[in-house]
Amino acid sequence: MISLTDLTAAQLREFVVSLGEPEYRAKQLQHWIYRGLANSFEEMANLPKSFREKLTQKAQLHTLIPAQEVTARDDTVKVLFSLVDGSTIETALMPYPTPTGGTRYTLCVSTQVGCPIGCAFCATGQQGFERNLTAGEILDQVLLFARRLRDRQSDARIDNIVFMGMGEPMANYDALWQAIEMLNSPEGLGLGARNMTISTSGLIPQIERLSKEKLQVGLAVSLHAATDELRGKLVPINRKYALKPLISACRDYFEKTGRRVSFEYILFEGINDSPRDARALAHLIQGRNCHANLIPANPTKSRGYRPPSQETVQAFEQELKRLSITCTVRSRKGVDIEAGCGQLRSRFLKSK
Ligand code: SAH
Ligand code: SF4
Repeated sequence: MISLTDLTAAQLREFVVSLGEPEYRAKQLQHWIYRGLANSFEEMANLPKSFREKLTQKAQLHTLIPAQEVTARDDTVKVLFSLVDGSTIETALMPYPTPTGGTRYTLCVSTQVGCPIGCAFCATGQQGFERNLTAGEILDQVLLFARRLRDRQSDARIDNIVFMGMGEPMANYDALWQAIEMLNSPEGLGLGARNMTISTSGLIPQIERLSKEKLQVGLAVSLHAATDELRGKLVPINRKYALKPLISACRDYFEKTGRRVSFEYILFEGINDSPRDARALAHLIQGRNCHANLIPANPTKSRGYRPPSQETVQAFEQELKRLSITCTVRSRKGVDIEAGCGQLRSRFLKSK
């Protein structure tokens, strides 16, 4: 069985031709998948029945099966998907009300089953690493949620995609990039590169590769600490790619693309949340065209990584602002449903 979303536009054309169909049918098929958000081959009304029958025999439209779903009080929806091999991943849709009374939707997409980086505070990191997702498995998360939104409210669409779900996106660069190109393409979902952000624990060679791409997607770097000593403990990849070269790769990224890098900093009580830590962070990123995103830790079950008090978070933010660092505190989404990276899957794995 061929999974259609795993194919690039050129591969889809080849596949359609290999079934004995004229090339223009590939365009129609692609339109049904990415624009029509079709749920079945039967829906594809302008394709001849004989072609649809061949597709049913040879190809599959979906690689994901929703296994569990939870909705938070703030309307964040998280779905646990089963993949064809029985592995599971999570995807979360977060609604943000706009000042004019509308809603914008951000989808948080996974790129791997588990994660090889193994950060101590992260539910996914603690699950170990199973495998990379294919481009189709990445795309299908988006297609499933796009369809869901459309079915509920015809004019609703996904506005932003953040690759901040399970896994290290940069460790699965090829599949990720294939998916991004399809998401961006006018024959795909037609989503602006500006509306997509890759979050990374700091893989320098891939940041360099990204800076040379034609499509300029956003880059978020998960810092969480401003010294190599502490970061080495929190984000083990720091032992390979230390802070100084990492920050300099981010500077190059900005210089090549003109896109401001955003630095993610999870605040953990008693670990990295003092005014002194704030000053070290300011010192590290000062003068860079960047933005710091402060994230009070999600209380996971792993002991020792708790969120600080609101006062401590505010004091940290004030200290950064005093030192002229632009920063925001990220509003927490879906806390009551354990919407943090990998948390639902952790519960699912334990219950098996
Ligand atoms: N691997 C990439 C992207 C996925 S992780 C990365 O690390 O950037 C996505 C985000 O979830 C990261 O910013 C990560 O640090 C954050 N995260 C993981 N565990 C968390 C926790 N316990 N509390 C708050 N954020 C967490
Ligand atoms: Fe992997 Fe990101 Fe979790 Fe670290 S925080 S283990 S890099 S998913």
